[in-house]
Amino acid sequence: MKYRKPVIAGNWKMNTDIESGIKLVKEILDLSDSIANVEKIVCPPFVSLTSIARALNGSSIQLGAQNVNANENGSFTGEISTTMLCGLISHVIIGHSERRMFNGESSNQVAAKAITVSNAGIVPILCVGEDLSIRKSGKAANFVTKQLKASLKGFLNWESLIIAYEPIWAIGTGEAATSGQAQEMAAICRKVIYQLSPDVADSVRVLYGGSVNSGNVAELLIQPDIDGALVGGASLKAKEFSNLIRIASSN
Ligand code: PEP
Repeated sequence: MKYRKPVIAGNWKMNTDIESGIKLVKEILDLSDSIANVEKIVCPPFVSLTSIARALNGSSIQLGAQNVNANENGSFTGEISTTMLCGLISHVIIGHSERRMFNGESSNQVAAKAITVSNAGIVPILCVGEDLSIRKSGKAANFVTKQLKASLKGFLNWESLIIAYEPIWAIGTGEAATSGQAQEMAAICRKVIYQLSPDVADSVRVLYGGSVNSGNVAELLIQPDIDGALVGGASLKAKEFSNLIRIASSN
């Protein structure tokens, strides 16, 4: 099996203002800048990106956005494009379940974003995951297979892709998937990649997201198909987020 460097990515969602965001990232830097063998990414709100990029300059922590428009420019009032983000960020979360739910984003739109993002030299962190009713009906594998295929329609730049399996029922609930459930679904994501582009299936990183904390991350990260974590709540606490980074670096 190919070595895949673990990734710990923090999704701050609609939390922090510019001042508290800078304070948070400085605390994270103090605690984890020197930790090696793990890719560290923070994804603050748009308005904080410039200030946080300045704080991160020269450090080992990378910067991501939480969303982007699929168009490079044009009459899309209030939207943010890859053209604006180029040179500022290295990663962008796309297809997060909250955007699919609250902003009605379809997998077709997510696929268009994935293409625009990778064409701009930015790595998409593409999220997929089933809700509780789908999980209970035993159709999670089928649902995520279809959702991931649809979200990667037309995608070609396989070297530039991170996938995050995030069961909706585990996000922000304190009820993480078991390591067995997470591994099963991460393996399904990898199988989809194999079907779409067999040569890269062994190198694309698949993260797990949903109530990850320092008590459950080690067990998740030792699973053969889980290469890191996308972290919401715990990424807003410098110490806890840095603990996740430390555990991932020694896993
Ligand atoms: C998320 O929103 O991507 C997430 C995983 O949140 P939490 O860690 O809070 O469950």
